[in-house]
Amino acid sequence: MSEKSRLFYQTRLRRPVLDRAEGIYLWDKSGKRYIDGSSGAMVCNIGHSNPNVLAAMARQMEKSTFGYRLHFETEASEQLAARTADLSPPGFDRVFFVSGGSEATESAIKLARQYALARGEASRWKVISRAPSYHGATLGALALTGYGPLTDPFAPMMREMPKIPAPRAYLDGLDPALTETGHHYADMLEAEILRQGPETVLGFIVEPVGGASTGALVPPAGYMERVREICDRHGILMINDEVMCGGGRTGRFFAGDLWGVEPDIIAISKGFGAGYAPLGAVTAHGRIVDAVLDAGGFAHGFTYAGNPLACAAGVAVIDEIHRLDLMANAEKMGALLKSRLHGLAERYPFIGDVRGAGLLLAFELVADRATMTPLPASLNAYLRLVDIAYENGLILYSRRTREGVEGDHFLVCPPMIVTESDIDDIVSLLVSSLDRFAAEAGL
Ligand code: PLP
Repeated sequence: MSEKSRLFYQTRLRRPVLDRAEGIYLWDKSGKRYIDGSSGAMVCNIGHSNPNVLAAMARQMEKSTFGYRLHFETEASEQLAARTADLSPPGFDRVFFVSGGSEATESAIKLARQYALARGEASRWKVISRAPSYHGATLGALALTGYGPLTDPFAPMMREMPKIPAPRAYLDGLDPALTETGHHYADMLEAEILRQGPETVLGFIVEPVGGASTGALVPPAGYMERVREICDRHGILMINDEVMCGGGRTGRFFAGDLWGVEPDIIAISKGFGAGYAPLGAVTAHGRIVDAVLDAGGFAHGFTYAGNPLACAAGVAVIDEIHRLDLMANAEKMGALLKSRLHGLAERYPFIGDVRGAGLLLAFELVADRATMTPLPASLNAYLRLVDIAYENGLILYSRRTREGVEGDHFLVCPPMIVTESDIDDIVSLLVSSLDRFAAEAGL
C-alpha cells in the first residue's frame, strides 16, 4: 500500500485497512480483531457476513444486478416492498426505494411537497425540524439538519428550515418520565408553527429515537402523541426519520411504534440494507401516495432506486431478522447492556447520562453530573475515548453533544445478534478504555 492514499473523506486521518468481518467482529490486515460496538455507523444490524444474506445476494447476482425502474420491476424489489409494507403502520402499503439515508429524507420531503401541491396547498413548503438533529448530507437534507458544524459552511447554498429544540430533558433538568415534560417540548412545535404561519408549514421531521446528533435521545413521555395532535391540528405532515433508529434495533422495526403514534411518511435506510447493500426507502400512507400519483405522478427518482441486488439483500436481511428473532434479542440484550452502562455510571462519576432504547444506546461524559457541565472541550473526549477504545479493539461512535461546540456522547450499538457474553466483552473493553481515558484526563 502506498503511503499517500488516493482516497479522501473528512480529514487526512487514515484507519487500518479492513480485511474481513464476521458476526460482531472485524479484522484489519494486520490480523487485529475489533468488536463492532457501533455496527459501523449503526448500520450492520444483523452482524457481518451473514451466510443466508450472502447466498441470497449470490443468487440474485446470477440472475441480474440491474434493471432500470422505468423498464422493469424485479422480484426482489416487489418482495422487499411487500416485506416492508408488512412491517409498516396500517395503510402504509407502498414503498419508494432509494440507496441511502440522505436520499430517503430528501425523497420524504419531496413526497410531502407534492402531496401539498396535489391538495392545492402550494403555500406549504417549510419543514420544521429539531436542533440538534441530523437528516443527511445533501443540501436539502442539510437544510433540515440542526448541527452547525455541518450546515454553517453551506448556509448560502441552502434555504435553512426552522428548528425547535430537541427534547433534551436531561440537560434542562426536567423529568422525562413526566407527561408535562413531553408536552413542554412538543408545544414548542406549535409555537414555531404559529410563528411561521401554519399555512406555510409542510411538515415536521423527527427522529423517533435520536441518532448520532443527540446520542440516542428518547423523547419524554407524551411527546410523540402531542406532536401528532399538533400536526393534525394544523394540517402538517409528521415525517419520521427512521434512517438510524429503524430496522429493528429499538426492539421494533420502526422506532415510532414504541409510542403507537402513526406518522404520515417514514424514511429508512442504514439497518434496512444492514451493510450488505446501499439501500433505503420511503414509505407513506396510501392516501398520500395515491394523491400524488393521481395528480400526475411523483416527480422524483434515482437511477439506482430499486436495484435488484440491493433489494435481494434487503429481503434476506428482513427474513434473518424474523428467523433469528432479532428484534426480541435487541430488546433483551439492550436492557442488559443499558443496565451495565448504568453500572459504569456508578463507577465513573464523569458519566453524566445513559440513554436509549433497545440496542440504540449512548452515554455522555461530563465534568459534573449534577449540573451536566461538559468536560473541557480541549480534552476532545469524543475523539480521544474512541481512539483508546479502537486501540483496545472496540469500535464506538461519538459526537459533540452541544451542536458541535462542546460535550461528548458515545453510541454503543452492537449488532442485534449480540449475546450476554459479547456484552461482557464489550463492557470489559469499555472499562479498560474509560480507565485509561480517566488517567490521561486526570479525572
Ligand atoms: N437521517 C439520519 C437520522 C441519520 O442518522 C443519517 C446518517 O447518519 C441520515 C439521515 C443520512 O444517511 P446517509 O449517511 O446514509 O445519507
